[in-house]
Amino acid sequence: MLSKYAWRAVRSKVCWYAVTTVEIGGRRKTIKMNRLIANTQSGLQCHHKNGNSLDNRRINLENLYRLEHDMLHIMYRHAKMNHGLDKTG
Ligand SMILES: [Zn+2]
Repeated sequence: MLSKYAWRAVRSKVCWYAVTTVEIGGRRKTIKMNRLIANTQSGLQCHHKNGNSLDNRRINLENLYRLEHDMLHIMYRHAKMNHGLDKTG
């Protein structure tokens, strides 16, 4: 399922993400691999549990509400983990 896409790594504000570009109805759309794997619905954030944003194993991904996700990252920051507060991961 993943192999039909051409994945590339892009840098967000704080970490790297594997993304691909697809065309849906003539419009180009960038999709994050983690959101595809975790089947993240719009309005939810796809979080990497171990803090490695390129570790897109299903077991490492968790769909969270925005507020929950932000809280988690604030806690992480306090714990000095390597996965900063950001909008997307
Ligand atoms: Zn996160």
